[in-house]
Amino acid sequence: MIISSPYINVYRNMYFIRIYLRIFLFLTKRTARYIIENMNLKKINRKIQCLILLFVCVVLILPGCANRGQTVKNLIIMIGDGMGPVHEEAGRAEKCEPLAWDGFEYCFEATTDSLSGLTDSAAAATAIATGTKTYNGVICKGQDGKDLKTVTELAKSKKKAAGVITSDVLSGATPACFSAHSDGRGLENDIIESQLKSRIDLLMGQSTAAYDGYYGDFKKKGFTYCGSLAEAEKASGKIAGLFAGVPVKNNGLPGHETLRDMTVFALNRLSKNKRGFALMIEGAKIDHASHSNLYGQMIAELLAFDECVEIARDWAQAHGNTMVIVTADHETGGLKFSDGSYFFTSAGHTDSNASVYIQGWPREEPPFAEKIIDNTDIFKISRSVLGV
Ligand SMILES: [Zn+2]
Repeated sequence: MIISSPYINVYRNMYFIRIYLRIFLFLTKRTARYIIENMNLKKINRKIQCLILLFVCVVLILPGCANRGQTVKNLIIMIGDGMGPVHEEAGRAEKCEPLAWDGFEYCFEATTDSLSGLTDSAAAATAIATGTKTYNGVICKGQDGKDLKTVTELAKSKKKAAGVITSDVLSGATPACFSAHSDGRGLENDIIESQLKSRIDLLMGQSTAAYDGYYGDFKKKGFTYCGSLAEAEKASGKIAGLFAGVPVKNNGLPGHETLRDMTVFALNRLSKNKRGFALMIEGAKIDHASHSNLYGQMIAELLAFDECVEIARDWAQAHGNTMVIVTADHETGGLKFSDGSYFFTSAGHTDSNASVYIQGWPREEPPFAEKIIDNTDIFKISRSVLGV
């Protein structure tokens, strides 16, 4: 269960109100003493003026200090698609050392079910991006068909930069949930048109034939349409990086870019905004390999995602004022360990809980009081640290 942020705010406000009252009483006493001790009115007026000025300064400065302690400048949400706790165990075993998120300050488990029951990536990413459960296949729309406010939209409302990068196609369910609204994950043109209308500063992932038809529209909406990171480096303003491929490791082919290199680019570019940024990074193909029960490929994708987390974690530590969340939307493949080896037991999604790791939580109280949370709670803490 989340410790609701309004209560924390009320508690903190009460604390500061008490401080204000003490200061006010102190100043009143001092003023009264001056009036009694010293009947020179001109001098008293000057003293009173100084005290009032001091009081106004305290009133203006203290709330700013309080807010700085509760919010963060930058928010990085990293989703390993299909990565269950046993996938993580396998990753640790194959890497022969801890994963990049193992040293994070907090670790929770999130339930992942959607309004349809066993979730898909669209409903799970909608829960993480908007804090609301929806039906499988739906991209950030509620039961009433209306658009749900996403964490990226909230970041934009605070004049922060916003970015979405993925190793999947850019219209895939998870990147779509952080950049679009649509009745169906299969409605690709609808998703792209919604991405065009979004105020996102950076979109990057694998291209599809459908994106080719929107080249002019992206330009009209102020995006530079880039086929490689080298092109993106030269571009200024909003960027739509539509790549020919997103391989697990650099393969040298033109237009092929890794999630690792996109992560480095996105952190450099988005951090140019003085108000900070919100960035979603998806390691999509852990899910794809798990659907196909390809263990070696799954491990390669998981360790590639691990490398991206390491980069984001180190960036956050170096720059401070940044919260990093590492989680999964659901488990894929029913991965199990027995007799010294890992093996898949399903070709689909399972109801296993997803791990939630948090680094850079800006408050003394833990983000949640209990170990098991709901995936919608991830949105609640994101919104709360953005100060929205
Ligand atoms: Zn899947």
